[in-house]
Amino acid sequence: MAKKKKETKLTPMMQRYMEVKAETPGTILLFRMGDFYELFHDDAEVAAKILGLTLTSRDKNSPNPVPMAGFPYHSLEGYLQKLISAGHKVSICDQVEDPKTSKGMVRREVTQIITPGTLTDDALLNPKENNYLAAVCPTKDSIGLSWLELSTGRFQCMELSHSSDELPAQLGSSSPFADEIARIAPAECLLPETAKDQPVFRQLSEMNGTVLTQRPPWTFAANQARENLLNHFETKTLEGFDLGDEDSAGITAAGALLEYVQETQKSSLGHITKLEPYRHGTNLLIDETTRRSLELTRTQRENKRDGSLISILDETATPMGARLLMDWLSNPLTDRQAIERRLDAVEELKENSKLSRDLREQLKDAYDLQRLSSRVATLRISPRDLGALGRTLALLPKLKAKMAERSSDLLKTLEARLDLCSEVRADIESSLADELPITTSDGGMIRAGFNSQLDELRDLARGGKEWIAKYQAEEIERTGITSLKVGFNKVFGYYLEVTAVHFDKVPDDYIRKQTLKNQERYITPELKEYEEKVLRAEDQSKALEAELFQALRERVAGECKRLQQTAEIIAEIDVLANLATVALNHRYCRPVISDDPCLNIIDGRHPVLDKLQPSGEFIPNDVILGTSSDEDSEASSDLIAMITGPNMAGKSTYIRQAALLTILAQMGSFIPASSATIGIADRVFARVGASDELGKGQSTFMVEMTETARILNTATNRSLVILDEIGRGTSTYDGISLAWAITEYLHDHTKCRTLFATHYHELTQLPKTLKNVCNWNVSVHEQDGDVIFLHKIVPGSADQSYGIHVARLAGVPREVISRAGVILETLETDHQDDHGKPTIPKRPKKNSRQLRLFDIEPHPVLGELKGLNLDEMTPLAALQELHRMKGKI
Ligand code: ADP
Repeated sequence: MAKKKKETKLTPMMQRYMEVKAETPGTILLFRMGDFYELFHDDAEVAAKILGLTLTSRDKNSPNPVPMAGFPYHSLEGYLQKLISAGHKVSICDQVEDPKTSKGMVRREVTQIITPGTLTDDALLNPKENNYLAAVCPTKDSIGLSWLELSTGRFQCMELSHSSDELPAQLGSSSPFADEIARIAPAECLLPETAKDQPVFRQLSEMNGTVLTQRPPWTFAANQARENLLNHFETKTLEGFDLGDEDSAGITAAGALLEYVQETQKSSLGHITKLEPYRHGTNLLIDETTRRSLELTRTQRENKRDGSLISILDETATPMGARLLMDWLSNPLTDRQAIERRLDAVEELKENSKLSRDLREQLKDAYDLQRLSSRVATLRISPRDLGALGRTLALLPKLKAKMAERSSDLLKTLEARLDLCSEVRADIESSLADELPITTSDGGMIRAGFNSQLDELRDLARGGKEWIAKYQAEEIERTGITSLKVGFNKVFGYYLEVTAVHFDKVPDDYIRKQTLKNQERYITPELKEYEEKVLRAEDQSKALEAELFQALRERVAGECKRLQQTAEIIAEIDVLANLATVALNHRYCRPVISDDPCLNIIDGRHPVLDKLQPSGEFIPNDVILGTSSDEDSEASSDLIAMITGPNMAGKSTYIRQAALLTILAQMGSFIPASSATIGIADRVFARVGASDELGKGQSTFMVEMTETARILNTATNRSLVILDEIGRGTSTYDGISLAWAITEYLHDHTKCRTLFATHYHELTQLPKTLKNVCNWNVSVHEQDGDVIFLHKIVPGSADQSYGIHVARLAGVPREVISRAGVILETLETDHQDDHGKPTIPKRPKKNSRQLRLFDIEPHPVLGELKGLNLDEMTPLAALQELHRMKGKI
């Protein structure tokens, strides 16, 4: 009862607040009140912490004061950014009526809900990366997946069929679905409630920071979703989009996604003009683990862009180009002609370096036309942004002229398709002023001379101001009040201000309006008459400007499709010129692309290390696997190479390099090598290094075997497999046996190109029984007992594993090193006891003080030392361990 009483006491404003709050569950509500956005209740408490705002309360004297916090409306952008970065969704409730003209309480409505996957503001977006919203729709026999970049309007979907009825299997962390969602790396993912607990989503949110948003089941109903798409695209069928079965789960996911965007954006979505099917088979498949271990777009350890392949490759001039480059790298091609078309264009631009330099110079002045076009379509574009769009269009004629007379097919096509959008540009240039404001409310965006009525109103407003200046001078003259001033405030409008010393001179026709300390304010009928004229003219001119601007915005929005196409072409020119520049600056060569399953690279370099190490320090290496019909290419019957060599010799670097160069070539880039023939791969698998996956609740070995199983089950004879130290996570004999059997399987059944780095010497015996396996090793030079890494891959197997040498380099005490040497020798000469286990020789007579000490009472450190698995440790970890032990002695 008491509660009810309290509710009825809510002010109309708070009542409206509560209504809006109920409409926007799960979001933080910013409620516009005058010049402030206010937050109440829990929202105020949460936001005050994130935004560093002071928490106050609305009705301090009541028994339950409402917590409240707020900030000035013009600081919205910065605060919004902080809330979104903290993973929140934010609803903005604005005043949708002019307070000046409204009767009673100003009407307030939610104008936008901003969520991590639906950002469109430049301030909230990373210009170089796509910000995807994804939706997942699992059904009985397939999983639908759709994704949208709202800031550019790119909308895609796909369907993955599966044979399992069980959700966990369909959505498992090494399912094809997991690979796709990792490729897209969405900022936000919509799911039905049933799917939310699947590990793949937990992984996605932990590794990628994806915000998971549960949606009601009805949004994933096939009929409803399809209807929604048809209404949006204003079509009777979806056939025109070549999406296949209209009831497919992919389309349902797309419909559910659109529903969410409509719900949150509350504005036109005219820039979403098509739904594109994403098809397998035209792209090189790179699973999630491979993507991470090859560090294509993020480093594995720190999850940073710096140090990844994209950071080396990206010198694009525009944000659109940067995003497209990322897209190309994430989706390399498998069609030889398509790859060669790109390579031809890169080659032409590389050879004509002046042209690519000029193109890039021009592109540097371009704004993000893709995102600007979308903002036009949602009718949210600011005057300043529309001006930027116009200036970008103004660059096009020169750009097109530069592109003319190109000989490569792709450049010619791009030139022909580059639409200058001249009418749009003319519309913008003729109507918008040179200096543009950010908002439309204060006028100043329409050029003088564009609209005669506007010019008149402006003259009137300006003329009125001149009149006031004249009036002030006349009144000073008439009254003798030398300090008399005409002032203006919102309450009284224009007034005459007289200071105390002149009070006696105030004429009778002045009407007193306000008394302040030491001064009084007056009005006169004459002043009021002019005031009205001026203000009316000003108001009218602002209103007319807003109208004209809106009309321009709508006209440009009508051309959104053309603008989007132009933006895509600019992006592609940028990417090609970028690849040409990188090829030139980093001495890359054009790879020969072959349909044969071969991988022949001469003097290949790891693109990232090559760039990061001082010039000339990276040692180039060859890879010769398989045969190609290309006459100039090296040929080999070997398909599987076992690579041995000590730790730190460069094995991982070498095998990753082979995979990276294949990916680069298939995306259409030149590659760091002196020459190469790359046989197109359908999939690349990299199982490199035992990454620490313990956080996921699985043992490292289990993860390693799950991934290996996947490779063995899905690789084809066109795949490229790189394996590093497989079997390391178990006992030596276990590990060797597994690695041995895996290699046999790849050799006999899969028959795919494989590079296998291992420190198990036993595996170097494999070529004796498997005809397409060869041994390579990373050569090292031994000098006076020291090991020098040459980083050069040479045929044959390594003599020994040098682990003991590395331990010495790491500072392991001499006694331990020499004892390890003896043990190794025994193991290698196969001394066995009665049970077939190797016999470890007895320890020699101790003569050092330390060892005598151990003899009397074994020091606990000795036990710890015994327990160390040096094979599993990095030199640094070994060193740290030693430091720790030394501290105990
Ligand atoms: P391994 O896998 O054999 O333990 P890595 O591939 O991790 O060795 O290489 C160890 C280090 O050696 C790398 O971090 C790199 O700095 C250096 N390195 C590797 N390959 C080369 C090379 N070809 N030229 C120069 N330095 C290299």
